Amino acid sequence: MTAKLIDGQAIAAQIYEEIEAEVAELKEKHGITPGLATVLVGENPASQAYVRSKQRTCTQCGFHSVGEHLPADATQEEVEALVERLNADDSIHGILVQLPLPKHMDEEQVLRAVSLEKDVDGFHPVNIGRLAMKGREPMFVPCTPAGCIELLIRSGVEIEGQDAVILGRSNIVGLPVSMLLLHRNATITITHSRTRDLPGACKQADILIAAVGRPEMVKADWVKPGAAVIDVGINRVWRDHPADREWTCAETSETFVAHRKDESEKGGRRKMGVYCETHDKAYLKDEVPENIEDADKAHPCETVDLYRKYALVGDVDFDEVKEVAGYLTPVPGGVGPMTIAMLMWNTLSGAKRAAGLID
Ligand code: NDP
Repeated sequence: MTAKLIDGQAIAAQIYEEIEAEVAELKEKHGITPGLATVLVGENPASQAYVRSKQRTCTQCGFHSVGEHLPADATQEEVEALVERLNADDSIHGILVQLPLPKHMDEEQVLRAVSLEKDVDGFHPVNIGRLAMKGREPMFVPCTPAGCIELLIRSGVEIEGQDAVILGRSNIVGLPVSMLLLHRNATITITHSRTRDLPGACKQADILIAAVGRPEMVKADWVKPGAAVIDVGINRVWRDHPADREWTCAETSETFVAHRKDESEKGGRRKMGVYCETHDKAYLKDEVPENIEDADKAHPCETVDLYRKYALVGDVDFDEVKEVAGYLTPVPGGVGPMTIAMLMWNTLSGAKRAAGLID
C-alpha cells in the first residue's frame, strides 16, 4: 500500500483563502480589521524568524500586525506591563508571546497575564481547562493540535468511533490533541515514555498522532495497515548527501561537506571554504592557515561553498510507513504549515468575538 499524502501546505492555503474572504467581509460590513500582536523578548534567532513569519502571514491575511520586541534583560514586570497594554488595546484581538522567554522569567505567569479573550495560543489554564471538560468550549484551541484535527477532517478521515493513539502527552501537543479527538468521539490511548509496549499500542491505532520529538521512531511494523498517521515531530538530523564529498578541515579537524553550490538544495548551513585541488585539502574560510597563501600561489585553489548538511525529519519513518499507512503527513509540509494557519484562524475568531458575531 502507498499512503495518501496529506498535504499541509495545500490545506493551509485553503484555510488562508477562507480567512481572507472573512476578513474582507468583516472590514466591509463591520469596519473591523483583525489584529495580532507578537511579543518577542531577547534575540533568539529561531524566535525572531518565527515572529517574522507570523507577521508576514498576518499581512497576507489582511490583518493588522504589531510586533513588540523587548531586550533579553527586560524584567518580568516590563513584559507583563506590555501584555497588559496589549490586553487593553481594542485594535488587538490576539496576543502571541513567543516562547521560550529568557530563563530569568516566569513563563507561566506571563502567559497567565494574557487576557482570556486574546489567548490565541490557547495555553491559558482556563482555555485548557475548558478543553478538558465535557460540554465546555474553550475560546481558543492550541494551534498545532487544532491543525492536526483540521488535517484529518479536510482529508476525509473519519474520527468518530475510531481508535486513536497519541504518542506523547505534552501540554502543547499530546494532551490537547487527545482532548480534541475525544470530543470528536474517538476512543483515545495516550502513550508516553513509560508506556510498556509502545509499538503494540501504536499498532492498534486507526489514527496515530506522533508527537515525541524522536527522529523517525515510528516504524512500519508499529502501524496498522490503512491507518491515518499524523506526524507532528520536527527533528533536525545531520545527513550526508551521497553526491557530496566529506572533508575534514585541515586546520581544525572539523568535518563538513564540500560541494559546489546547488540551488536546489535546501537546509544547509552555508560556510565559505577554500579547497585546494592539488593538495586535496579543504579549509573553512576563517581557518585557512597563512601559509596556504603560498600553496595557493603554487597551485590554483578554488573557493567552494561548504555545507554542514542537515535534514528535517518527523517522528515517523516516512519511507517505511508510507508503504503501510492509509494517510500520512510529510515533514516538512504536513502539520508545520497548519500551526500558523490555525493561529490566524484563532485571531480571526477573536476579532469576530470582540464584534459580538460569535460567542
Ligand atoms: P515534549 O518533549 O514536550 O514531549 C514529548 C512527549 O513524548 C512526552 O510526553 C514524552 O513522554 C514522550 N516521549 C519522549 N520520548 C519518548 C520515547 N522514547 N518513548 C515514548 N514516549 C516518549 O515535546 P512536544 O510535545 O513539545 O513536541 C513533540 C514534537 O513535535 C517535537 O519534535 C516538536 O519539535 C514537534 N512540534 C511541532 C510543532 C509543529 O508546528 N509542527 C509544534 C510543536 C511541537 P513523557 O511525558 O513520559 O516524558
